[in-house]
Amino acid sequence: MKRQSLSAALTIIALSLTLSATAGAVRHPAGLSPVTITLTSHDDVYRLAQQGIYLEELRGLEAEARLTKAQAGLLAAAGYEVRPRADAEITRAQLTGYHSYTQLTSFLDSVRAKYPAITKKVSFGTTVEGRALWAFLITDNPDASENEAEVRLAANIHGDEVVGKELLLALIDTLTRSYGSNATITDYVNTREIWIVPCLNPDGLESGQRYNANGEDLNRDYPVPDGGSNGGSVPGTETETQQTMAFWSAKHAALSLVYHGGALVANYPWDYTTANCPDYAVARAAALGYARLNTPMYNSAEFDDGVTNGAAWYVVRGSLQDWLYNATGGMDITVECSNTKWPSAGTLPGYWNDNKAALLYYIRKAGEGIGGAVTDSATGQPLSGVTVSVAGISKAVTTDTPGDYHRLLASGSYSLTFAKTGYASKTVSNVRVNFDSLTTLNVALKSSSTTTPTLAINATSWAPAAAGGTSSAISVTNSGGSSVIAYTVSSNQTWLTVSAASGSTPGSFTMTAAANSGAARSAMVTVTATTSGVTGSPKTISVSQAAGTSGQNDAGTGGDAGNTLALAT
Ligand SMILES: [Zn+2]
Repeated sequence: MKRQSLSAALTIIALSLTLSATAGAVRHPAGLSPVTITLTSHDDVYRLAQQGIYLEELRGLEAEARLTKAQAGLLAAAGYEVRPRADAEITRAQLTGYHSYTQLTSFLDSVRAKYPAITKKVSFGTTVEGRALWAFLITDNPDASENEAEVRLAANIHGDEVVGKELLLALIDTLTRSYGSNATITDYVNTREIWIVPCLNPDGLESGQRYNANGEDLNRDYPVPDGGSNGGSVPGTETETQQTMAFWSAKHAALSLVYHGGALVANYPWDYTTANCPDYAVARAAALGYARLNTPMYNSAEFDDGVTNGAAWYVVRGSLQDWLYNATGGMDITVECSNTKWPSAGTLPGYWNDNKAALLYYIRKAGEGIGGAVTDSATGQPLSGVTVSVAGISKAVTTDTPGDYHRLLASGSYSLTFAKTGYASKTVSNVRVNFDSLTTLNVALKSSSTTTPTLAINATSWAPAAAGGTSSAISVTNSGGSSVIAYTVSSNQTWLTVSAASGSTPGSFTMTAAANSGAARSAMVTVTATTSGVTGSPKTISVSQAAGTSGQNDAGTGGDAGNTLALAT
């Protein structure tokens, strides 16, 4: 099918010579060498993929990959031009004006110090060479997990693609500075949790290379949705990948993006297959919404409207984007934000200008579509881990600790089902959702266990001596399950006090009676559940104190003989 020529044979010779000679700064995995392949048509992308050959980059018909000698030989024999590729070296001059890893860390620290009320810096792991992986949170109440949509903006998973990192640092600067003065930005910060990860590959950034310190491509290291491998390499081997997966599995970002460089396009799932992803309408609309606000991207000569399905461009197995969407249901897109991976720093303000409105749009979108909180119908407590699925879309999302869920949906009418083990599932039909606004749908699920939270105490009466004293501890429990019941304890007489006056199950309190110098007297202690949906509330304890020494009661049982607590059975 391809021309078999002398030049191809010569290419193989040149290649094998270089394979043993290339051992520069970049450590490539054993047996793999970087090459450039000239394709004859775009369909070659799929012919190569069928041979287990996946690309790192594609510019027009010039492809970059790392191949074994056997793969390079196979391609050359099939008539492809395969040339050894020297690893690009970033010059000192190119570094000027960009944040190094250390400068990036200092920048985050300085913003955090200046705006502590709306920021938080979190390390979610360390790299092969021991650098911390930073996630920077911008939101009101940064230490509390609230019912707010999470959006995750990341960059620099390829160490030599650095424009996105600078865009995100500029975004951090803009969001924090404008908080309180710009109404739109203040609203975004107050109603969303904006997580920014400016550099997913600090070791690659520091050495000016695509790969991590083990020479692995981190955007090929994630589990592929079909369960297969990336051309035979086992996914999830790199520590950066493992830490990123652990952190974002627990976060449930409604919307995320990761910046790359080397092209100008917004790329949506899937990367591993040309099939439409279950949320195709949303994936394309989110990417298109971004591209439309980035004029050079939207006017792309290569990509219609500046967007593409990932695999329609070229097949990538093991991308962060595919893993995140597949594993969490949160939509993730890949934004290639600069044709040049490391342009002169003087051009960065222009890139910021091209991307600023698109970034703010993306933050806005994270809080639109449908969202709400799921609670336990009996206790009103938030329920995490509830699966929220939409009829007709095979990807579900999950509620977080505050019981909240957030999902962007194309405008339409939907049927949503909320499910959690131990609870009766609930389906809400004909829910009208608009792509450009928020529909709030709060749902209460009924526990499928037959027990109802029930307030119980282990005493019914107390007879303190005339001299007064303190009772032994009275326990307060939920005899109808393990959920927590909040309660208050009160006395109707000032001579009888209780401590503590409130608590939650399992808890306890004591009663203290003052000395009695008069006639026998009685009081009532009441324990009341403040959690809703609890039966058996209130509970009471009758307290009767004997008369003082001057006044025996009629039954003659007063005096110092008392202080007995009748335990409930
Ligand atoms: Zn990249």
